[in-house]
Amino acid sequence: MGKIKIFLLSEVKDKVLVELRNHLQNLFNLEIEIISKKQDINFAYNEKRKQYSAEEILKNFEKNKDKNYEKWLFIVDADLYCSGLNFVFGVANPYSGVSIISLTRLKQQFYGKSENEVLYIERIKKEATHELGHLFYLNHCQNKKCVMRFSNSLYETDEKNSFFCDRCKKILIYNINQIRT
Ligand SMILES: [Zn+2]
Ligand SMILES: [Zn+2]
Repeated sequence: MGKIKIFLLSEVKDKVLVELRNHLQNLFNLEIEIISKKQDINFAYNEKRKQYSAEEILKNFEKNKDKNYEKWLFIVDADLYCSGLNFVFGVANPYSGVSIISLTRLKQQFYGKSENEVLYIERIKKEATHELGHLFYLNHCQNKKCVMRFSNSLYETDEKNSFFCDRCKKILIYNINQIRT
């Protein structure tokens, strides 16, 4: 078994956290700890792109991680990118067990639309579940509805479910059971 630790680098509403925690609890059936971690990430800021390097942020936090059975998810309200991509909703490194998601592009307001909290929470659930899925060694899935489907547009995120297809679920349960604390 493992343990999921969620680190909040930005303010996240309690309502959002309650829904996220319940969702992850149902899917992963593991202990979940949520930690507020106000930390400067300016070291990862790219002046030219006006975005933050997700890889730099992960690298920085991976230095402090020793327990292999712990899976870390950072949540930040900052626009993230990876080399070769214009932006990313999130990134995960299964080797270190550290992942990050960005809230910025999950908000309707980012696209000049009016706020939609229900949709926003759904998207957070999907992105968090997807990156944590990677941390439990799941790869991208071809099933269009599966949360492990790769999405690089909001349209694709909205189209998929916030949970695993039967095949991914089986692999996930197997992988979780392999982890020894
Ligand atoms: Zn992915
Ligand atoms: Zn799947």
